Amino acid sequence: MDRSKLTRNILLGMLLGLVLGSLIHAMALDTSSLLTVYVVDGIFDVGGKVFIASLKLLVVPLVFVSLVSGASNLSGEGHMGRIGIKAVGLYLMTTAIAICLALLLANLINPGMGFNMATATEFVAKESPSLKQVVINIFPTNPIQAMAETNMLQIIVFAILLGVAITKAGAHGERLRDTFNDWNEVVMRLVLMLMNVAPIGVFCLMVTLFSKMGFSAISQLIYYFVAVLLVLMVHFFVTYPMLIRFVAGLNPITFYKKMMPVMVFAFSTSSSGATLPVTLEAVKKRLGVKNQVASFIIPLGATINMDGTAIMQGVATVFIAQAFNVDISLSGYLMVILTATLASIGTAGVPGVGLITLALVLTQVGLPVEGIALIIGVDRLLDMTRTVVNVVGDATVATVVARSEGQFEQAIFDSE
Ligand code: ASP
Repeated sequence: MDRSKLTRNILLGMLLGLVLGSLIHAMALDTSSLLTVYVVDGIFDVGGKVFIASLKLLVVPLVFVSLVSGASNLSGEGHMGRIGIKAVGLYLMTTAIAICLALLLANLINPGMGFNMATATEFVAKESPSLKQVVINIFPTNPIQAMAETNMLQIIVFAILLGVAITKAGAHGERLRDTFNDWNEVVMRLVLMLMNVAPIGVFCLMVTLFSKMGFSAISQLIYYFVAVLLVLMVHFFVTYPMLIRFVAGLNPITFYKKMMPVMVFAFSTSSSGATLPVTLEAVKKRLGVKNQVASFIIPLGATINMDGTAIMQGVATVFIAQAFNVDISLSGYLMVILTATLASIGTAGVPGVGLITLALVLTQVGLPVEGIALIIGVDRLLDMTRTVVNVVGDATVATVVARSEGQFEQAIFDSE
């Protein structure tokens, strides 16, 4: 199927799923009704789950082979290090901008003023690991275990080491590099095969999600909901396009058009991790970022760069503080910027985790963790939306770094 048709069909799958799901929701069916049991929880749920499983299946092989291939094709000492520093720097910078926007706008909107606390349910926070342990955990002891557990940072470290060793191993290395290059192309082909069934997969996911989406909680939390959406939109429509236009020197509209299928995947799966194969494919084959940069920056971003999550955490902190009538001081706000950056780094790219790591931010500024229970009711839809921002942020940084490193193919970006 040609690409523009495929993009259109994926979008269509999403919209039809959304409409059908909402209609089923409006019918307020019994959980034991035939339609619920056999169609929603049956056919559509199976379709959606198989689709997500197939996406996840590709993550480890794809990241591993493309990164080994990418690292082994980078000539020159220090190249990888420079790309890494630029990527991490930009990731941190965009996340910090995201939180500052969130704190600023949330203080203007005042989402928690006059909130009725009676709706609170219980929430138990998990303990987070220490910083020391987090650093140690980046380094793998067993590559197979790292892959079995989809531990992305450990896979990245192992793949880069292997790639660098390949560049230093003379003729042996050259043979292996060619093999990894071949593997890379084959695994990318798998991604394309999956993309062809995506319209159906996305449709199934959307029907199941929206037929169960509770909209009743939104009315209570409408200011919070709108505030998060608004900040997400500002970051999405202002920060990223500015980086693409003024730092990368590219047309943001072309960038967004080419990212369209990725955004639909992120929205319907709520997972930057599951979307990773599609993000990588789009960044390389649609935007023109060379594999050497994309294979490193995109998996890294899907693991540590979550601007959308940081935005939700910023707004949620202000909301909870207002709902509990607690004042946050200036140093408190600085603490929020710092901890929300760390919390979003520690958020795994799977649905709903941003809400769990929010506990870290709340604890640091002395707010009650139970506050999270207040916003759980509307988090599903916000999760879908912030995941879109999370993956677009990764693609933006990859594009900016690729342009500055001369690892960018303009012809691909300009092509239809
Ligand atoms: N669902 C988000 C993601 O995968 C993480 C979160 O904020 O919960 O990017």
